[in-house]
Amino acid sequence: MSDPRRRIPSVDALLASPAFEAILAGFPRQLVVRVTRVVIEEVRNSLLSGDKDIGANGPGSYAQAVLIRLEQETLPSLRGVINATGVVLHTNLGRAPLAEIAAEAMASAARGYSNLEYDVEAGRRGSRYDHCVTLLRELTGAEDAIVVNNNAAALVLVLNTTARGQGVTVSRGELVEIGGGFRIQEILERAGAFLVEVGSTNRTRLSDYENAINEGGISAILKVHRSNFRITGFTEDATLPSLAELASQNGIPLLHDLGSGLFVASDALSLPSEPLASDSLCAGADLVAISGDKLLGGPQAGIILGTSELIHSLRQNPLCRALRVDKVTLAGLEATLQLYRDPEQALQLIPTLHMLADTPEELHKRSKQLAAELAQLGITSSIVESEGRVGGGTYPGVKLPGVALALDTPHGAEILAMRLRLGDPPVIARILDKHVLIDLRTVLPGQGEVLIRRVGEAFGVEGAGPWG
Ligand SMILES: *Cc1c(COP(=O)(O)O)cnc(C)c1O
Repeated sequence: MSDPRRRIPSVDALLASPAFEAILAGFPRQLVVRVTRVVIEEVRNSLLSGDKDIGANGPGSYAQAVLIRLEQETLPSLRGVINATGVVLHTNLGRAPLAEIAAEAMASAARGYSNLEYDVEAGRRGSRYDHCVTLLRELTGAEDAIVVNNNAAALVLVLNTTARGQGVTVSRGELVEIGGGFRIQEILERAGAFLVEVGSTNRTRLSDYENAINEGGISAILKVHRSNFRITGFTEDATLPSLAELASQNGIPLLHDLGSGLFVASDALSLPSEPLASDSLCAGADLVAISGDKLLGGPQAGIILGTSELIHSLRQNPLCRALRVDKVTLAGLEATLQLYRDPEQALQLIPTLHMLADTPEELHKRSKQLAAELAQLGITSSIVESEGRVGGGTYPGVKLPGVALALDTPHGAEILAMRLRLGDPPVIARILDKHVLIDLRTVLPGQGEVLIRRVGEAFGVEGAGPWG
């Protein structure tokens, strides 16, 4: 019998065959050549080890293998997923989804030229730091503002500008790690300042700050919002107004790393009270730093609000150039901030706020509808109580009352969750008590149909996908 390896076609022969015509029309030739070589090599190896000859059916079977590989290789690395976890600001899933109008503004800024650093009226160079400032002043009462890459960058800029080579007091109860290796003490040191710890983990008094300042060498007081944890029990903190007074008596600035960036009253979201940036400014903070993509519900950005004099010196710091914000971000942030001019509108149109305010009744209604549609595919599910989370290192321990759809599967929850992940788009769900939970709080309007298709695929519903 002749060696079957001798029947393996050449790359050239395959590419010239009609079976490859559509592939060559859809993918770059060089890529097709490379992938075809790999597939041919695989066929050769499998024949060597005595396996079935997948090439036996001619160019058509090669084309099929090449196409599957091409589709895998050209899938973007960063792609959309359906968040069915009920965690609204899921850091691993990209935090805040944007309002439609903000996404449009970003697409438009990305596609064309803009007046990013151009003063249209005067016909000369302008500043990128002018954008968003009017809105931020109007919405927070700040004298001035500057937007940088994220809140971590904001903190670096603030500390480097106000305290390079000098001491900064921080309460031992606020030396937090935000996540992703971001620790206040390390950022402070990298920004060129010296950390002067005051107080104890659970109690820090005004006199602790006073004593540290009296020892000399302190050029700023830093207050850090406990975004992602709580200290309860025998606790004490110096209030912001008392720290503001102490700072002003000593002629040093009070810096407030607020993080969360809530712009509407928390009771509108039925959430516990959380300080607004405007509260912090009113209480006397000289510079306040917040995130753009946490409770504000905008793009990733760091917003610094404060006095004209200090914001001016931030702009003069050469580091500002290294931490600068991108035009696409500015466009999205401005569109998001515009919505806050009418808080009702913000609650309606900013997905983050909308999801946080979603009620158990509303979620029940949507879950029931989804259950009915899945039942038509022969998939049984039940509605169970389930708590959502705010996420993004905000509102630690706060549970958002709601419901979720629990999917029953004979294959086990782990397998089902994996099948939900390994499709296009991936569906990320939670597992609880051997059930896969689909929490519709974080599933965006318009994703319903795709979600049903993907759940169908994961259950191996006939014709619905690779597991069928
Ligand atoms: C989230 C947070 C940060 C980091 O903000 P990013 O925008 O993620 O860089 C810093 N400080 C506090 C208090 C935070 O909550």
